[in-house]
Amino acid sequence: MSEASATQRSHIAETVEALRAGGTDVVRVIYPDLIGVDRGRDILVGHLPGACGHGLSFCRAVYHTSPQGDVVPIAGGLEAGLPDVSVRPDLATLQPLPWEPGVAWCLGDTFDPATGEPAPESPRALLRRVLERAEEYAGLAVTPVVGPELEYFLCDADPTKASGWTVYGGATGNVYSAGRRGDPDGHLLRTLRHLADLGIGVIAGNHEFDGGQFEINLDHSDALDAADRAFQFKAAVKETARREGRLATFMAKPFNGLGGSGFHLHISLLDGAGRNVFEDAGSPDGLSATARHAIAGLLRHAPALSALLNPTINSYKRFGPDTLAPWLIDWGLDNRSAMLRIPPERGSGTRLELRLGDASANPYLIIAGAVAALLLGIRDKAEPPAPLEGYGYQEDSAPRLPSTLGAALDALEADEALTGLLGADFTGAFLAYKRNEIERFQQHITDWEFTEYAFLI
Ligand code: GLU
Ligand code: MG
Repeated sequence: MSEASATQRSHIAETVEALRAGGTDVVRVIYPDLIGVDRGRDILVGHLPGACGHGLSFCRAVYHTSPQGDVVPIAGGLEAGLPDVSVRPDLATLQPLPWEPGVAWCLGDTFDPATGEPAPESPRALLRRVLERAEEYAGLAVTPVVGPELEYFLCDADPTKASGWTVYGGATGNVYSAGRRGDPDGHLLRTLRHLADLGIGVIAGNHEFDGGQFEINLDHSDALDAADRAFQFKAAVKETARREGRLATFMAKPFNGLGGSGFHLHISLLDGAGRNVFEDAGSPDGLSATARHAIAGLLRHAPALSALLNPTINSYKRFGPDTLAPWLIDWGLDNRSAMLRIPPERGSGTRLELRLGDASANPYLIIAGAVAALLLGIRDKAEPPAPLEGYGYQEDSAPRLPSTLGAALDALEADEALTGLLGADFTGAFLAYKRNEIERFQQHITDWEFTEYAFLI
């Protein structure tokens, strides 16, 4: 055994001792599947050394499984005889679960046991691959920094509703509020405290626009760490709601007549000396040429990006005029009606706020896609059009975003620069998975169809 693995072994042994001393008997290893769902396994702590050595085996089709449990035919899965992927715990991410005494969780990395290479569909590996190429594309060593901002609806069980759920609280007019008015039993405070104990860099939260809708902000950090924390955030909010018999949904637009839930990203780029390369105090808007190119990259690749950032059939119902969600491919200085808003801070706080993504996006894919698009803009020295002035949502003032998932997938497939950076293996699996989702939807008879057609025709 090499010196390094002996060191690793003793580190793992010390970790097991420390976990036992702290009363932890189970480690939950979680990793994101293609759509960002947390998959994983609970391991008795004495078996952690084995899991770290040979990995935990899962069927590779975990990446190809629909939310209904169907295995979607994707290369490397069903037709290959349902082979394994291995998951190795990343002990650097180990953290006790505040709501589940005796359990600590950590992230896992999936790899192909035959080659030792990361699994082609692994969202975490995809983001790492994009980040590894940042210097090549940006022309200098850069660190993308991301601050995720997620919204969700909380629901109470309601047997009188066809879905079984009704929005919690429900009163309108509580946007930007905290306290019991829009949150009668203190869900937000309880959740914030759990999340604080989880150590995932949660800053603050408030009631969002619609009844039962909340927004919680995460601190900014390097892109991989931000994706890890956003992934853990979604898993934690859903799990703590389940413990209360509730549903926290990150669906893009769960209810007719209410707004959607966004997954906004605040993005900046630091150079090797830690300076924000989006800032130029000498330019009229305080933005550097690099920032302009990054903006142009995000606009240019927006139709393809939306396949990753708005990844469900439902996502496209969030877009529209007068929604605070985007509809057109535009940008503006401190303008919330634009797809890409440049918040007013300058100096080290100079950043882009990409408002395109919705809460249903896989945190790794939304960040990998956004970083890839802005790197392409910088590489190509792309120039954006003039920024949006005043109220957006005026048809013809800018191109429209795709209006369906199918159109976005076609745009992704056609965007060779973006798919080149994301890799053919990943893109092929993602397109096949999502096109199968559309096929399944097209075969399914919805409530709307029955209401519309059953009675009069
Ligand atoms: N809920 C809006 C969206 O879907 C965003 C509201 C806001 O500005 O925070 O993106
Ligand atoms: Mg918000």
